[in-house]
Amino acid sequence: MPHNITQTHRKKSVIAKLRSVVPKRRLSIEEALRIAELQANHLLAFGNVDAEPVPEQIISELPNIRVEYVTTPLAGTCFWDGHEWVVQINQKDTWVRQRFVLAHEYKHILDYGYTDWLYPSAPCTHELDHSEYAADYFAGCLLVPRVALKRAFAQGIQRPQQLAQHFGVSERTIETRLHQVGLIDPTPRCMDHRRMHARARHLSVGEHS
Ligand SMILES: [Zn+2]
Repeated sequence: MPHNITQTHRKKSVIAKLRSVVPKRRLSIEEALRIAELQANHLLAFGNVDAEPVPEQIISELPNIRVEYVTTPLAGTCFWDGHEWVVQINQKDTWVRQRFVLAHEYKHILDYGYTDWLYPSAPCTHELDHSEYAADYFAGCLLVPRVALKRAFAQGIQRPQQLAQHFGVSERTIETRLHQVGLIDPTPRCMDHRRMHARARHLSVGEHS
């Protein structure tokens, strides 16, 4: 079989393969985040990507995905147009922002049809939208892979500004990933997330059971 057909065949099944790692049961948010990281790592493996910055083409060149850069008040959105998935990105945003938003929107595409299992407590009255949090988490895991971040850190690239440039993401994304990977202590913003998670768990038990 010619190489390009093999490639196409392999790429065509990427969404199905990434969705297949979601267990068919209701998951906690911690489990949903582990699934998000697993999907990001699988996508990196499918794309044969092991260098930084992770190219956004790992998503934009998949079959059945069309990326449009448009004038919009939103950072990004995605929808099925009857033939393929369309991701619209704000053309006025920076490259760093656009590629994060593309990864975020792609997670929404992966989650389509699976949200009842992944985020069973939503919609809730608490402030944290689990599907949005998981989409951000996925984007962070894809663009700043855990192994690559630890490798760069060990090689002496440690300042958030340096790491942001190395990975092609914002300093805020780097700070979040450094905390998630355990290379720095939680920032006040991360502590806010922890409090919200604690509150989310409390609400899901106390108000939605
Ligand atoms: Zn979103």
